[in-house]
Parts: sequence; C-alpha cells; structure tokens
Amino acid sequence: MPFLISFGLSLFFVLSSFAVPIGEPQWGQTGHRTIGEIATDHLTNRAKKKIENLLDGHNLAYVSTFGDEIKSDKRYDKYYTWHYVNFPIGSRYEDSKKEEKGDIITGMEHCISVLKDENASRADQVFHLKLLVHLIGDLHQPLHVGRAEDRGGNDIKVSWHYKKSNLHRVWDTQMIESWNMSYTELEQNMGQLSKEQIRSIERGSLLDWMYDSRELAERVYASASPDDKLGYRYSYDHLGTVMEQLRKGGIRLAKVLNEIYS
Ligand SMILES: [Zn+2]
Repeated sequence: MPFLISFGLSLFFVLSSFAVPIGEPQWGQTGHRTIGEIATDHLTNRAKKKIENLLDGHNLAYVSTFGDEIKSDKRYDKYYTWHYVNFPIGSRYEDSKKEEKGDIITGMEHCISVLKDENASRADQVFHLKLLVHLIGDLHQPLHVGRAEDRGGNDIKVSWHYKKSNLHRVWDTQMIESWNMSYTELEQNMGQLSKEQIRSIERGSLLDWMYDSRELAERVYASASPDDKLGYRYSYDHLGTVMEQLRKGGIRLAKVLNEIYS
C-alpha cells in the first residue's frame, strides 16, 4: 500500500509538471541580444555615451534579456502583461479590451516617459532603460501581437524536428537556435542597407510597428496548423522573416533611444 501511495504521488508530480505552461512569450535570448547588438550599431554618439554611463559598462545586448529574468521574481509580477498585446483577428487595438496592468504599448510608453523625465532617479532610469530594450525586442516577435485564445501561439502545439513544441516557441527561439549562430555572428551577417532602407524601417510610431507585427502574426497563424511537423522546410520558408524582424527591432530600438537622448 505505501508503495501504491508513493507511486500515485510520484505519478501526480510527473503529470502536474507537464501541466506547467511552457513557452513563455518572449524572443529567446539570442534574438533579444541580436536586436541589442544591431541597435548599438545605430546609436548616435550622444546616446551611446549616456547609455554606457547608465548601464555601468554593460551593453544593450547584455541587458536585453532583463525583462524575462525578472519574471522569476514575484516583486515584478506587475510587468508580466507588458511583454505582449493580444486582440481578436479583424479588430483594432484601439477598440479592444485592454489588460488592466498594461500591455506592450502602454509599457513602452511608460518606459519612454521615465527616461525623458529629468527628475527620475538613476535607479528608475536604469530599470526602465533595460525594460524598454527588452519590450521593443518583444514587439518584433509577431506572435507577441497575436490572439488571446491561443496565448500568442503558445497553445498551438506542433513538433519541431520531431520534438514537442508550440508555434510561439518555434518563432521566438527554435528557428534562431537551429541556425546556430551567436548573436554577434547574426548581427555581422545582417547585410548592408541603404540610408533610404534604414529610414523606411525607422518610419512610424510604436503603434504602427505594432500593426506591422500584427500583419505578420496573421501570416504566421496561416503558416501552420496544430500537430504540424515543422523542421528544415519551415526554417527555409520563414527564417528570412525572423532575421528581418530582428533587424527592424534593432534599428527601431536605436531610433527610440536616439530620440530620448538627443
Ligand atoms: Zn519578453
């Protein structure tokens, strides 16, 4: 009997560990760091100096994952909903029901207002700079602007190279990791853009960029169905889009920071 009880208990723990939601909404570390590295390349000298001073010698790539690191600390729970915004297909963000604790748009706006506030403490400025770097990265992962019913693709179960996964995780981490380049190698291999191409990426507001990601999210949803077996062919079709998003994220992050520190 004790055996049965302990067997039952361990079975319970094994099963309940499967119930823990996997695939949190975020670019993986490599994606975030690539965006930070690209942004550094596009900073004005003035912004670079100010940021170096605030980050105590760390760079944007280093702090880009901060927003996800603090998720393991309960004191920061109020920022959890700032990483994404979900609203129904066919509707507009402006008309949709808002998260009480804020979403990625209000989160970025709040960070920017703290950074522009000359009376904000240094600690507050550092915190909100690190968070802003992370959130602008998240904004460019299309499934951070997805549908609530599948939690931005987290509930669309697919396999990735024959292992269980979900569509969100394929887009934020697995395609990038399978490519097997470091964030500095990725940054160095983004290719050259003309001034006009850079200007066209920079154009627009946070809301416009959110709608860019939304349009892309609709294509991502159409690209796979539950239980699809994804692998090399899926990367072949979509890795270019992932890289383009990393590049846009980096250039736009620099644009926002240059404006704050101009
Ligand atoms: Zn995040």
